[in-house]
Amino acid sequence: SIAHAAEAGGTAVNITIDDGPDPRWTPQMLDILKEHGVKAVFCMVGPEAKRHPDLVRKVVADGHRLCDHTISHDTTMDKKPVAYQKQQILDAKKMIEDAAGGAKVEYYRAPGGAFTPDSRRIAAEAGMRPLGWNVDTKDFELPGTAAIVNTVKNELSNGPTILFHDGGGDRAQTVAALRQVLPWLKEQGHTFSFPVRTAP
Ligand SMILES: [Zn+2]
Repeated sequence: SIAHAAEAGGTAVNITIDDGPDPRWTPQMLDILKEHGVKAVFCMVGPEAKRHPDLVRKVVADGHRLCDHTISHDTTMDKKPVAYQKQQILDAKKMIEDAAGGAKVEYYRAPGGAFTPDSRRIAAEAGMRPLGWNVDTKDFELPGTAAIVNTVKNELSNGPTILFHDGGGDRAQTVAALRQVLPWLKEQGHTFSFPVRTAP
């Protein structure tokens, strides 16, 4: 099944960051996460991981976890043949793991949430837990930093897994939002966790 819960339970939240790694934005997000002692999950696009192995290794070295976000980021892959889904998932996993130099990819997140029963099975058989989200910050649409922050504040009651992006365009708003969101979450008494990897 698709994971949303936090390993730590309670009021813990999961920070997840998609579509990178990106040489401009990923290092800035890593700095903010480190400053606040927060570990996150990075859902990487295979060719971007292959292009920037230094960033993949930095993500791993900082204690974050890796997630497979396919080769082509095809948000209609739920309409495509199973063989295509399998290639998209498994080839990206190999690219990310080759770049990581040893660390395993622990989650799979379908582009745009376009999961299928087959893609969930393919991921699980390859040792990756399908990973969903509860709070979509919609940072991808460039709504402004304040709007991204407010979406987290207003929608956190949906569940603990929050979606941001470090790739796919100008992520300055996301960087600025993360800088505000992490201290706010702490003020509210939240801790930080990883999404669950095993079924309850
Ligand atoms: Zn994505």
